[in-house]
Amino acid sequence: MRFGVDIGGTNIKFVVIDGNEIKYKNCIDTVKNGDAIVGDIITEYNKVKEEYNIERMGVGIPGDVRDGVVLDASNLGLLDFPLASELAERVDIPVRVANDADCAAMGEEIFGGTKDCDNMVLVTLGTGIGGGVILNRKIMQTNRCSGEIGHIIIDMNGRQCACGEKGCWEQYGSITALVRDAVKACEENPGSILCGIYKREGRMSGRLFFEALDANCPVAKQVFDTYLDYLAVGIKSVDMVFGPDVIVLAGGITKEGEKILNPLRKKLPQDIRIEVSKLQSDAGSLGAAML
Ligand SMILES: [Zn+2]
Repeated sequence: MRFGVDIGGTNIKFVVIDGNEIKYKNCIDTVKNGDAIVGDIITEYNKVKEEYNIERMGVGIPGDVRDGVVLDASNLGLLDFPLASELAERVDIPVRVANDADCAAMGEEIFGGTKDCDNMVLVTLGTGIGGGVILNRKIMQTNRCSGEIGHIIIDMNGRQCACGEKGCWEQYGSITALVRDAVKACEENPGSILCGIYKREGRMSGRLFFEALDANCPVAKQVFDTYLDYLAVGIKSVDMVFGPDVIVLAGGITKEGEKILNPLRKKLPQDIRIEVSKLQSDAGSLGAAML
């Protein structure tokens, strides 16, 4: 059996799997400190190892990982943190650590709705755009950062990105970008349904945006159409570079399913297969277990 851990900014997810079967699942709050994270993982492992015959542990973490060392997970306050060896010292099984988006892609590859595909790219739409690339059923890894598809540049004179470049895809196709564009449209169209919802709630979110779309707000429809253009242009680039059998979209907004997929497919060449993740936030821990 395998123990999978997915460390996120908000919570840490745990899973025990036996073959393809999930035996155990749990989730705790994340304490953003390396020693606390190690302590919490060990506590959980000690709890489950009594009941399950666990042979290996895999951990996914949002940041750059090289040879088990977390080079930079600034969101969690970790820099040059030797996570794999810190854990391995306290357990009697092998421990592997990888980037969380790569783990999620592996989870989709093995447990998701596109198991038939040897090559896939997972595109996670959230605060930014994350990605994991699976080639010939293996995580694509190099000695440098790879799979950072959110930073494909789609406009060299475009919006400033936190990475230092201008015009990165995630500045247009992330949920943060959609919400920002929706707020801008509200300011320009104060009489719209979208703006009514914005004023009512005092904020904008993906869910509130879809409420306006469902109410047939023409302003929201226009924002959404432009957003889908942004998504499509990045997806076409991803397809050209990696030539995957399928591109799987994940993240809260993709729970809208066909409301996104249908119009998005119309903006893409027919031979690009796109699907929505069936595993969503479970993909990371499941993929980590398979490291
Ligand atoms: Zn960038």
